[in-house]
Amino acid sequence: MTTKTNTPATQQHESSMFDAVLARLDIAAKIYGLSEDVATVLKNPQKQVKVSLPVMMDNGKVQVFEGFRTIHSTILGPSKGGIRYGMDVCDDEVKALSAWMTFKCAVANLPYGGGKGGIKCDPRKMSVGELERLTKTYTVALSDVFGPDKDIPAPDMGTSAREMAWIVDAYNKVYRGNFPGVVTGKPVGLGGSAGRETATGRGVMVATLAALAKMNLDPKKATAAVQGFGNVGLNAARLIHEQGIKICAIGDHTTTLWNEKGIDIHAAIRFTKENNGILKGFSGGVEIKNTELLTANVDILVPAALQNVITEEVAVNIRAKLIVEGANGPTVAEADHVLQEKGIIVVPDILANSGGVTVSYFEWVQNNYGHYWTEEEVNTRHDNSMREAFEHVWSNGQQYKTSLRIGAYITALKKIELGVKAKGNY
Ligand code: NAD
Repeated sequence: MTTKTNTPATQQHESSMFDAVLARLDIAAKIYGLSEDVATVLKNPQKQVKVSLPVMMDNGKVQVFEGFRTIHSTILGPSKGGIRYGMDVCDDEVKALSAWMTFKCAVANLPYGGGKGGIKCDPRKMSVGELERLTKTYTVALSDVFGPDKDIPAPDMGTSAREMAWIVDAYNKVYRGNFPGVVTGKPVGLGGSAGRETATGRGVMVATLAALAKMNLDPKKATAAVQGFGNVGLNAARLIHEQGIKICAIGDHTTTLWNEKGIDIHAAIRFTKENNGILKGFSGGVEIKNTELLTANVDILVPAALQNVITEEVAVNIRAKLIVEGANGPTVAEADHVLQEKGIIVVPDILANSGGVTVSYFEWVQNNYGHYWTEEEVNTRHDNSMREAFEHVWSNGQQYKTSLRIGAYITALKKIELGVKAKGNY
């Protein structure tokens, strides 16, 4: 449990994201009545690996990068979770993200545990050649950790299908074979699944519609703000917009835009495709501050970029009725009670963005079978699975008279507890 200090919430949680995981775990464990033994197991990641990665840079000098991989749990199956490239990547962040993967996979009813990895680097400042050498050095360093039936990475912030193809290539060379199931999120044609690239955003859309239906709100009369215009934000904005929801604010790390009449999302996507993936310079709205997006006068808020952006102070000023967490960990633990007291429905990250890992699982199944589904098949299976997960979480929230976030943790804990008890201790 976190202790209360005078440090502002953002600072506390920038220093320990894992504490934010433990805070929610403690609350859910108490409400559900989780056995102390299982709680103790879940508070301690199974394996944490840190590697030094020497890479020859384009200037002819060697630079050593720090790489991380944490296996939080393999209770329900091989560990599954993305690889993040960014300057903030550290032990604590990877540990927290790996634990969220354990809970997310359980909520999504997948036969996986949780893991996460990352490299401390700034991919925007590196050449393609440098990134390829770094990714392959990382894969070789972790080749005894990764494995199609052991630990299966996927893309996350700063990585994409391109890096996953490099990982398969390096892993195949180490083990002298063909192992497409060692990572998911690969390019289609190289073992990737149709629908994987848009899956996380699609899941956000399905979760948004499911929540609006519970709230008796008509999507065609609803407005939304989406923070982040990368894999999750862009696809969530497009798919939500296609359901008739008016997107009044969008933003990325370069700019934030507001348009009361609704932003033309397809035009914004075309613009970013021609402008190195960034929104700066798009004329579809007036420029506002990054933080103003979070408190904008809209019905739905989709944080789909960074962690820890909804602090207690921000939560007090949020006007949306519904928050759908596309990003991992956008809300600090201290803000939960503010949102709950204001009656704001929060579809938590471990449910809202689980569409990505769900289709990653479908990709892995297709790799194992060597038989590939159409995009329509993938989307239908995904939408059904997402709706089912939403209903389980909703009913646990109702049964235990708690928030959807704690309802989601309880949904996961029920499955994980069964797994721990069935396997026994040694
Ligand atoms: P991405 O790298 O594709 O995009 C990140 C976006 O965030 C970019 O548009 C970037 O400009 C924006 N951003 C960065 N700093 C910002 C700032 N200060 N203010 C506003 N925007 C900012 O990453 P992604 O894959 O879309 O991941 C976003 C979040 O979703 C992360 O928390 C990630 O862990 C989570 N997530 C991703 C997936 C997936 O399948 N990619 C699955 C589940 C969860």
